[in-house]
Amino acid sequence: MKKRILTAIMAAMVLLTGCGGQAKTQKKASNVSYMESVNGKLKANVPDDKYRTTYEIFVGSFYDSDGDGIGDLKGVEEKLDYIKDLGFNEIWLMPICPSPTYHKYDVSDYEAIDKDYGTMEDFENLVNACHKDGIKLITDLVLNHTSVEHPWFKQAKEYLKSLKDGEKPDAKKCPYVNYYNFTRDGSESGYAQLAGSMWYYEAQFWEGMPDLNLDNKAVRNEIKKITDFWLDKGVDGFRLDAVTSYYTGNEEKNIEFLKWLNDEVKAKKPDAYMVGECWTDLTTYARYYQSGIDSFFDFDFANNDGTIVKTVRGQTTANGFGEQMVTAQDEIAQNSDGKGIEAPFYTNHDMARSAGYYPGDDGSKVKFAEGLNLMMSGNAFVYYGEEIGMKGSGKDENKRAPMYWTSDSTAKGMTKGPKDMEVFDMKYDPEDKQAKSDSSILSYIKQAIKLRNAFPAIARGTVAVDENASGDDILVTTRTPSDSSIEPVAIVYNTSEKSANLKTSDLPDGFTKLSGVLTVGKERITEKDGTITLPKETIAIYTKVD
Ligand code: CA
Repeated sequence: MKKRILTAIMAAMVLLTGCGGQAKTQKKASNVSYMESVNGKLKANVPDDKYRTTYEIFVGSFYDSDGDGIGDLKGVEEKLDYIKDLGFNEIWLMPICPSPTYHKYDVSDYEAIDKDYGTMEDFENLVNACHKDGIKLITDLVLNHTSVEHPWFKQAKEYLKSLKDGEKPDAKKCPYVNYYNFTRDGSESGYAQLAGSMWYYEAQFWEGMPDLNLDNKAVRNEIKKITDFWLDKGVDGFRLDAVTSYYTGNEEKNIEFLKWLNDEVKAKKPDAYMVGECWTDLTTYARYYQSGIDSFFDFDFANNDGTIVKTVRGQTTANGFGEQMVTAQDEIAQNSDGKGIEAPFYTNHDMARSAGYYPGDDGSKVKFAEGLNLMMSGNAFVYYGEEIGMKGSGKDENKRAPMYWTSDSTAKGMTKGPKDMEVFDMKYDPEDKQAKSDSSILSYIKQAIKLRNAFPAIARGTVAVDENASGDDILVTTRTPSDSSIEPVAIVYNTSEKSANLKTSDLPDGFTKLSGVLTVGKERITEKDGTITLPKETIAIYTKVD
């Protein structure tokens, strides 16, 4: 009976072959992704701590819920399933408070939502929806400066303009004159003239962004009020904008201010998470960890000239990449009593998108670079759109282009993007297409985050490089968590553009089980006669056999 059925099936297959069925069958077989065959059964195993995987969103270009062409908070909420499905467990929202600019980094009201983005109720709903999905939400906190439209600045301006020549300002009459750094001396650099007066004000970035006087106790009280306000709304922490500019050129005072801020925020919410934008070199941002702030972005690894790109381009060896991870880890640990959490990222809203870094790339390098980022220690950040290899470079508006959900720019949810954005074509397929392909950039990123969530040691383990087993192409590392309940892993990389070998005996002691893999193509990792061959640009996770 069995045999007969089989014969019937075979006959049917022959028939199908005759009308194109064979091709269909083959396509199905080749579409079974190698990564999924290794990673498929892995389950998320994420401790409730601050070693997260964070998705950075420019709200205005993400998803439009009401058809006005501007992304909004309801749109983010509508797309939470997408974010959760990718495996992210934290969202960083770029500024959402009222502001006269499209980027909103000049705030005119710290305790409200910009009407382009929706209402405070929308925000509360988003926070609740995130928490229901196990996603933390952090917001951008811009404390270096306000907008010139902020009532503090407007009142100070009107008051100063009302003074008679030579009359000294009286803070009792207008306290806001001490909220900013006003002077009559027009020769100082980074100062702008207050129109219609003999006064100047500090504005290090741009005349529309007057610097706050963070030495003023009243200003610090305002800041405490602002952070309390958002913590009461349920946010899980803050991304701190431009921390090196708080006191321009004065690192000691910047760190003192951050320490004050950290103490205040954590007095209110002990498990709040904060990450600072300290756009400098490792040695400098490592020192900022002395403030107690949880994280500072790993700028040395990011951008079109950082360690990640250099490794992908072969300008830094595999071993060199490992050494730099260890250096970053050590310098940060030394400055934070071992408490600092690294914040690796690859690109952000101020940097050209990575699709433009590798001309002619079939997507391999875009994938691999993000793979390197997502296998790093700490809280790893991904800028929206990088998971599908969006393009965007040149002016800032281009780097904040509409999330490329689909090729139909009039489809539901599609945003128009910043007003002054240039018109350019994307290089890779939109999200809806990539979601259907298991060889897409999107599918790769999903696998990478899956590994990060399945092996908590990736984010939490101490990195050690096996120098003897590592070289120009191959990097052999271990990640040993201090928490013995977390399983240690070995991570092996082939950073080169061709396949590379290592001896099976070069795997760290006991780490012999291939448990996770990230490959940019369909080639498999093979093992024969004591030699492991890794396809180009491959990352492999080995665990100990039970
Ligand atoms: Ca909208």
